Amino acid sequence: MFGAIIEDAGSFAQPAGAAKVVDEFLQEKYSRQVLFEGLGLQGQQHLLDSSAVIVGCGAIGAATASLLVRAGVGRIRIVDRDFVEPSNLQRQTLFDENDARDALPKAVAAERKLKSINSTVSVEGLVADLNPQNVADLLHGFDVILDGADNFETRFLVNDFAIQSTCPWIYAAAVAAYGLTMTVLPGDTACLACLLNTPDLAGIEETCDTIGVLGPVVNLIAGLQATEALKLLSGNPQALHRRLISCNVWTGHFQSVQVQRNPQCRACVQNEFAYLHGQAQPHITMCGRDSVQIHEHHRALDLAALQQRLTRTIPEVRHNDFLLRFRIAPYEMTVFADGRAILKGTTDPAIARSLYARYIGA
Ligand SMILES: [Zn+2]
Repeated sequence: MFGAIIEDAGSFAQPAGAAKVVDEFLQEKYSRQVLFEGLGLQGQQHLLDSSAVIVGCGAIGAATASLLVRAGVGRIRIVDRDFVEPSNLQRQTLFDENDARDALPKAVAAERKLKSINSTVSVEGLVADLNPQNVADLLHGFDVILDGADNFETRFLVNDFAIQSTCPWIYAAAVAAYGLTMTVLPGDTACLACLLNTPDLAGIEETCDTIGVLGPVVNLIAGLQATEALKLLSGNPQALHRRLISCNVWTGHFQSVQVQRNPQCRACVQNEFAYLHGQAQPHITMCGRDSVQIHEHHRALDLAALQQRLTRTIPEVRHNDFLLRFRIAPYEMTVFADGRAILKGTTDPAIARSLYARYIGA
């Protein structure tokens, strides 16, 4: 992975197998971080030859993606299930008003923006909801997995996959003015299941949709997360802080603690990967305040055909290449090509199922 050799101290050597030509423009582009003694030319070479996958492209995922793409991480994949809304723009720094107006999927909007920021690295946005069936396909083969998720179900799934495949991952979360992050090195440091041995915590967890979140804290946490990723990917694992860092930007309270591994840990000691096996994705999941996500289908939908059908009975059906949206007052339904739908205006699974069956098909 980090096999490239620096042949000439004045320029970047070409990583083995890489297609792109490293020219003077590229040297200039990364010159300021190459000057940083922790990184240097060799660290930059490693970054160009490295890869990262980001699970969830909300505020933390977007900020981390921007930092890593700018830093020259050679290959970045972003996996996100959601679309851009006006309420995202206060903190999700990759998106703008046009993205929200067009209701672009975040993975698509992020890929476009990131390619315009750095065209010399590979960026791939995938519109998908991470689940036990697709986790291996989506996350396999990357040097690090970065947490940009908004729920613990997904984080425990990532944790189980990372421990099983011995891939480092970096937990990161923020709500209100508070945030925290921890780097998980499988078999070495504590994992998420060591830290939180009961996933039921998720049930009492406050979210950005209930108590809000400040833009500065997500960018601070993303900055810490991205720095850990840069240490790993530049060949400097000895520089990892190996601590759980938390901070409150409103009170100015910062904390850094060492988390011991749990000698009985379900995941990293007993290798019981409950989230990879058995626990199928529930058909209905909460998805922010006053909305639910429906996974009745595990097959692709023909959005053009669906739109034609719906316009016979529903006055305004909006669509783009990736999703379709319509109102059935007081609800609003957004349907994705992979068969998922997000219903706004209720948290009642029965209403969600019934409207899905009526308008999309059972
Ligand atoms: Zn553990």
